[in-house]
Amino acid sequence: MKTFNVQTKQRVQLIDITPRVAEAVREAGIASGICVVYCPHTTAAVTINENADPDVVHDLVAGLGRMAPESLSYAHTEGNSDAHIKSSLVGCSQLVIVEGGALVLGTWQGIYFCEFDGPRQRRVHVQVLG
Ligand code: ZN
Repeated sequence: MKTFNVQTKQRVQLIDITPRVAEAVREAGIASGICVVYCPHTTAAVTINENADPDVVHDLVAGLGRMAPESLSYAHTEGNSDAHIKSSLVGCSQLVIVEGGALVLGTWQGIYFCEFDGPRQRRVHVQVLG
C-alpha cells in the first residue's frame, strides 16, 4: 500500500490526484488489476470526474453545497455536519481498472480528492491488486 499526503487550502476544495495515483500504480509494477484509492477521513472523499473544464468542479462543489448546506441546523456539535454528509454522498474510495501497467481512465476523467472541512493535512491510501 502506498500513502501520500494532500494539503488542502480551502474549506471545500477538489484536488486532482491522478498523477499521484498513477505514480503509485507504476511503483506497484502490476500490469493488470485493480487500483483502490481510499481516503481515511470522515469529512473528505474521493471521486472521479471531468478534469478538462474547471467549471465542472465548481459546479460539483456548488451542487453538493445545495444538497448539504453549511448553514443548516445540525445535531453534531463539531459544526461540520455538512462535510460529513458530503463525504457520505461522494464516498471515501474509488476503484480504477489497471491495464498495461496504467490506470484505465476516460479522456476527460481525473481522480479527485474532495476536501469538505479544510484546510487540513489529509492522507490518501492507494492499494494495487494484480
Ligand atoms: Zn464532525
